[in-house]
This record gives sequence, structure tokens and C-alpha cells, in this order.
Amino acid sequence: MDFRQFKQLLKYADHNAEAISQMPEVNLSKSYIFRDILKCYLVVKNGKFSFKNRLNRAFECLKHGVTSYTFVRYNKEYQLEEPKTTFSEMKRILVTGGAGFIGSHLCDRLVKEGNDVICLDNFYTGSKENVWHLIGKPNFEIVRHDVCQPYWAEIDEIYNLACPASPVYYQNDPIQTTKTSVFGAYFMLGLARRTKCKILQSSTSEVYGDPTVHPQPETYWGNVNMIGVRSCYDEGKRCAETLFYDYHRLHGLRIKIIRIFNTYGPRMAENDGRVISNFIMQALRGEDITIYGDGTQTRSFQYVSDLIEGMIRMMNSGDDFTGPVNIGNPGEFTMLELAEKVIAMTGSKSKIVFSPLPSDDPKMRKPDIALAKAKLNWEPKVGLDEGLKETIDYFKSRL
Ligand code: NAD
Ligand code: UDP
Repeated sequence: MDFRQFKQLLKYADHNAEAISQMPEVNLSKSYIFRDILKCYLVVKNGKFSFKNRLNRAFECLKHGVTSYTFVRYNKEYQLEEPKTTFSEMKRILVTGGAGFIGSHLCDRLVKEGNDVICLDNFYTGSKENVWHLIGKPNFEIVRHDVCQPYWAEIDEIYNLACPASPVYYQNDPIQTTKTSVFGAYFMLGLARRTKCKILQSSTSEVYGDPTVHPQPETYWGNVNMIGVRSCYDEGKRCAETLFYDYHRLHGLRIKIIRIFNTYGPRMAENDGRVISNFIMQALRGEDITIYGDGTQTRSFQYVSDLIEGMIRMMNSGDDFTGPVNIGNPGEFTMLELAEKVIAMTGSKSKIVFSPLPSDDPKMRKPDIALAKAKLNWEPKVGLDEGLKETIDYFKSRL
């Protein structure tokens, strides 16, 4: 059995796991079936393969090009289905914004898990450097493309991340930001509709605007200025959520919406303009640490590995769970506390200075993650100190 056949067997098991586990006298769990296949694979590797395994018939059929087969156990017969997507034995996954900070970590994880990954990006805020280590791998490809234009490919899943996330960058060309959020969502939904694939939208805590409810549950509709400097991003992301839901209601699309709270970690751009990269770079260079406003505004910071785990869990959750679901770390800090922490952790001699607060800057933000806990069995694992240490080490290496 070669790798390709092995992957195909995994796909058969994955596709049929639910049906098999519902058979009353079998009651097999998905992992049990996987174990069976792995056992089967190992036996073959040792040159002792015999067709005694439960899945022997599947393998025989594969070898002989038969597309459906009967699964026999306890003298009962069950018809198993052919997986619907037969064009590849791996899941083909499109990540828009894949060369950005979060996108590149997601590509890492998906490539590592053996998926066939297409990273689509126009490099507005992302960079090839973020995915340089993946270029050349057989299951990774990079496509220069703007999501404001249609894109066609045969795929099983889409993670739609393309959009600048830093206020400095998304306000630099606000019309482009709205177009990226709305047209990007529209074209990716069109692609998902045609390929019948699952699609996950990376929405944001910014849909809650300057919240009057604290912490923010998904049921809160938000407090957003629709004509302010942040509106291109906030309203663009809100409209994208609307489009996702309308495609779901009208066309039965399998959608997933996550609302990401402030996320940080290695591969944030040094000149990104967001608070964590600004403070760390300023501290490492011995420059003044610029707090906007009086520093009493709060944010909740999530380390990137926790987010990636949440994203994958959301994509793999049942089709009946569409979200939106908050993915964030509920630890809440003032910007003053953050500045002091960064100074202490870097051992910097930087001084804190205060500059005017940008308009519509939310006064507080903290996710209510009860839904993610209940539906995805997910909660963040990395605290701010641990995550900051990794991030500081990363920025040090780039000085
Ligand atoms: P990022 O700026 O590092 O990544 C965004 C990527 O999208 C970049 O690679 C950029 O070049 C690409 N891009 C932008 N416009 C594009 C277009 N028109 N066509 C194709 N590619 C385009 O930001 P990030 O922090 O990695 O954010 C990724 C996603 O997560 C965004 O959708 C953002 O709104 C969302 N999000 C991030 C955070 C956070 O704290 N990082 C919080 C909430 C939501
Ligand atoms: N901020 C700051 N100094 C900086 C950058 C940002 O005090 O150099 C503040 C900003 O005003 C906001 C908070 O830090 O209150 C988080 O800003 P960021 O741009 O990281 O994210 P967002 O406002 O989108 O949550």
C-alpha cells in the first residue's frame, strides 16, 4: 500500500465514520476505525498484510477500482458510500490572506496535517517571507491574487482571512478595506457555492464596535459608528457576516463564522501599527512607548496558536454549528498595564509617553467564550506572559 492509497483509506473511513458508528451492534468510534486502518497499514509495511482486517474489502475494492463495497460484520451487510470528492485523496484547502500573520500560521498547521493547501494573497500587508519555509513543499502552493476579483479552484474548504487587520493599514485605503471585506466574502461564497465546500469567515470583535455590554457575548449586536474612520473595517466585516448568513439561508451553504479578538505572536509585521508590535519594537529599540489616550482602555490578547486551534475546531465542527463564535482570550489588560509588562519583560529603559486617542477607539473589550467552550470544547491555553516572551524573542531576532 502506498501513501496515496493509505490517504484514500483514511478518507473512506472519515467519510463513513458517522454511518458506521451508528450501526447498533458495531458502535465503532471514528478513532477506532482509524486505528484499524493504521494497523492494516503497519501490517502491510512489515510485509505481512493479510485480508483479515475489518477494512480488507475497502482495500481490495480500491485496488480493483471498485467504487462502492459492502461492509460485513456479524453476518449483517452495510453499504458504504464513496466519498463525494474524488479529485484528490487529500483535503484541498484555500486560505485567503494566507501570507499574513494569522494566515501563515494556519497554512503551517494545515500543511503539516497533510492537506493540499492553496495560499492566496495580494501581499498588501502579508509577505512571502511568512510562508517562505513552505514554498517548495508538494502540498503547498502560493497564488498572487486579489480577493476582490473572482477566483476558481476545486477545493474542499475555504478559510477566508484576506483583509488588513491593523487600524493603520485598514484606514490607509478605507475603500479598498470595505471592498476586500465585502467583495472578498462575496466571491469566496460564490466559490464555496459552486464547489459545495465549507467556508469559514474570520470576522472580528470589531463587529461589537465600542461595546456597551461587557464582556461581549455573540448575542450582543454591537455599538458601531457607520461613518467613522474604523467603519470601513467594522461595517465591512459586519456586512460579510450578513452575506455569509444569506448564502447559508438561501443556498444552504455550510458556513462557519468566528469572531477573533486581538491576536498576537511571531510574524506580526514590525511596522504593523498594532499595540503589541508597537510596544515591543519601541521597547527593544529603547524608544518612547506610545500610549494612545490615558491608557485605561482595555483589550484581551490571544496568542496565535490558541486561535489556530479554535479555527480548526470550528471548521471541523458539525454543519449545524455555523457560529458566530467568539475566539479570544478573556484575560483583560489596560494599555498601561501592557506597556509596563513589555518594559519589564524586555528590560528596556524606554519611557511611556501619551498621545491623543484615535477616534472611535473602543474603551474596553473582552470575549465571552462560553459558546466556544460548549460547542468546540475550546479555550485558550497560552497566558499573556508566555505569549509575550515568544513574541519578544521573535522581534529580537528581527532587529
Ligand atoms: P494581516 O494583515 O497580517 O493578514 C491579512 C492578509 O490578507 C495579508 O497577507 C494581506 O496581504 C492579505 N490581503 C489583504 N487584502 C487582500 C486582498 N484584497 N486580496 C488578497 N489578500 C489580501 O492580518 P492578520 O492579523 O493575519 O488578520 C487575518 C484575518 O484575521 C483578517 O481577516 C482580520 O480581519 C482577522 N482578524 C485578525 C485579528 C488580529 O488581532 N490579528 C483580530 C480580528 C480579526
Ligand atoms: N494603542 C496604543 N499605542 C500604540 C498602538 C495602539 O496605545 O502604539 C492602543 C489603541 O489606541 C487601542 C489599543 O492599543 O486602544 C489596541 O490597539 P490595536 O491597534 O492593537 O487594536 P484594536 O484597536 O483594533 O483593538
